[in-house]
Amino acid sequence: MRASGDVVLKLKHPYSDKTSHLLFSGLEFVEKLAALVPPPRIHLTRFFGCLAPHSKIRSAIVPKKAEVYACRVYSEQTPAVTPEPDSTPKKKRRMGWAELLARVFAIDITTCPQCSGELKVCAAIVEVSAIKKILGHLGLPDKPPDISPARLPSQMSFV
Ligand SMILES: [Zn+2]
Repeated sequence: MRASGDVVLKLKHPYSDKTSHLLFSGLEFVEKLAALVPPPRIHLTRFFGCLAPHSKIRSAIVPKKAEVYACRVYSEQTPAVTPEPDSTPKKKRRMGWAELLARVFAIDITTCPQCSGELKVCAAIVEVSAIKKILGHLGLPDKPPDISPARLPSQMSFV
């Protein structure tokens, strides 16, 4: 890093034109670094060919979970433990709305904010007149906000 804020990068191996160092401004260097950061939730190891996730012959090549477990037990020289076969495949469970609220908005509705006790659903009010009465008592509007008119496209303002 130079005093001016520029970054000098020494190459591991010089280019064919004998370039051994690269000079970037601070912003350029950060730009190059940011390009190396993978997007979130992307697998960093990708498999192709017969090891690709949807390859027709993948199941014949990749060992099953029980085999992997057995190999690990054998290699660690520990007493042999027979792996329990997965007789019942795990059913994917849908997330509950409380779980979704906690995950998306970081709102925990299962814990009381005053006493930290566990909250449970004791009733679901679906009758419109009762909902309006409760909202009116709390001083909250019982109608949705008006729909705003659509904005003109930004290009129209220049015409
Ligand atoms: Zn409480």
